[in-house]
Amino acid sequence: MKDYKEQDALVLFSGGQDSTTCLYWAKQHFRNTFALCFTYGQRHSQEVENARRIADMSDTPFQVLDASIISRLAPNSLTDFTVQMDEEKPADSYPNTFVPGRNLLFLTFAATIAYAKGIRHLVTGVSEADYSGYPDCRDTFIRSANATLNLAMDKQFVIHTPLMWRNKKEVWHLADELGVFDMVKNETLTCYNGVLAEGCGHCPACRLRNKGLQDYLVERGNKL
Ligand code: ZN
Repeated sequence: MKDYKEQDALVLFSGGQDSTTCLYWAKQHFRNTFALCFTYGQRHSQEVENARRIADMSDTPFQVLDASIISRLAPNSLTDFTVQMDEEKPADSYPNTFVPGRNLLFLTFAATIAYAKGIRHLVTGVSEADYSGYPDCRDTFIRSANATLNLAMDKQFVIHTPLMWRNKKEVWHLADELGVFDMVKNETLTCYNGVLAEGCGHCPACRLRNKGLQDYLVERGNKL
């Protein structure tokens, strides 16, 4: 990856493992990094507070944007406490943790803010490997959205997806390469039940994260 040390980047940031790894990746490749965090009626407001804390720890300007309209349009298990979360992906549909339109909306908001700030580079932690099957995490969608945003705003945005082809084990490896393995392990919040670091251990996000960590530690030659 080429360095853009003369340019700035806006990171779509939630304070989870993936976007925190992306934040530090961006800090290594760009002059200034800005963090943008969306609220959309998540089950756990501490997700936002934790994101703010990590931004502070890493000296990153932090902005919160209210995108809660999305949860009023399409109820899902991330925003509606009365919906039981799918533990597995149903055979013929997406798990109810899927928020339709979310990433397209978030990228549009992010590009609008980047436009106003004169920022060209957007960074998002979506991944096609180990993902839950969400269509708006795929590389083809990101390329399409990038083209659309450029046409819509007559700009040359570049959407960076450093995790696109990395499974969870490889995301841990990247955090280690960036020198923030312990920080990501101890300070990020990925768990759907709002438990910091290792999390509750049984929700889909925890199982994916902890399996990847275990695999990475085995590869690295030490155990948990
Ligand atoms: Zn969990």
